[in-house]
Amino acid sequence: MLATGGTIAGAQSSAPGGRYRSGVFSIRSLIAAAPGIESLARLEAAHVASIGSQDMGEAVWRALARRAQSALDDPAVTGVVVTHGTDTMEETAYFLNLVVRSPKPVVLVGAMRPATAMSADGPMNLYNAVATAAHPDAAGRGVLVVANDEIHFAREVAKTNTTQVGTFKSTHRGLAGLVSSARIHFYGAPVRRHTMASAFAIPGRGALPRVDILYAHAGMGRELIDAAVGAGARGLVIAGVGNGNLGSHARAAAAAAAGAGVAVVRSSRTGGGIVERNVEMDDDRLGFIAADELNPQKARVLLMLGLTRTRDPLRLQEMFYTY
Ligand code: GLU
Repeated sequence: MLATGGTIAGAQSSAPGGRYRSGVFSIRSLIAAAPGIESLARLEAAHVASIGSQDMGEAVWRALARRAQSALDDPAVTGVVVTHGTDTMEETAYFLNLVVRSPKPVVLVGAMRPATAMSADGPMNLYNAVATAAHPDAAGRGVLVVANDEIHFAREVAKTNTTQVGTFKSTHRGLAGLVSSARIHFYGAPVRRHTMASAFAIPGRGALPRVDILYAHAGMGRELIDAAVGAGARGLVIAGVGNGNLGSHARAAAAAAAGAGVAVVRSSRTGGGIVERNVEMDDDRLGFIAADELNPQKARVLLMLGLTRTRDPLRLQEMFYTY
């Protein structure tokens, strides 16, 4: 078990509701709050970070990936559970899904309610996450997210609600499985390459290029796109309107960026659906990349890793069809 913080380890100043701090409790105290968890597996726990996941970034990703990889390389280890804040869990899960090389399960788990809250969801989520990581059928499915009795694939899962315990949804391809009090049912297999079949490696310090996300809207101008390029972005992800679209001013700025060698990926702000090439935007002519099903935050993760391999938009496009 590798702890990074989050609400699952969070404490409220006064119950119920209101303000609280992420990452206050130790992983040992979280284990102690889930009676019976130590009969599911022999647990070894370590802290990688104690942060709210809004502070998650490249340095913690690298440390976490390294710790997970060395644990997975140990023949005595069956699987890894990562406790994590829910805000950016989908990004960390997808990052690990692309850089960790092991068929053994890696399961991310969090909670929407702090550990001190009435009906805290963390203990059961943690219990189910350990059961999932210890299950023989969890291997080979890539990185998983367990919450609210559901098992999600890293590529599919998204946080969709600010406060509800059922916030995680796999909007495109459905669930990996269900887990109820450690009873597990797996369904599908992941549809895209991951872990053992991934061409990506854990990046070295400073290896990931700057990639910015820009949120499109009615009346969007070119200024923020120009500013991102001016600030040194090597890649841009556009949370486009509808099918990854941009109005004419923003489109001109994005085309200029692509012409200058900045990778421009069109994702969508809609929260669902495929962004396809050359529908309303002439990607072939403008040099853009379509995000396929990845939401903007996951498209950013793939683009950062992709840019460690190539700057060629067509090769990057192929990655969006592969991962
Ligand atoms: N901002 C916190 C985090 O992501 C709260 C969300 C949570 O963990 O549920 O760590």
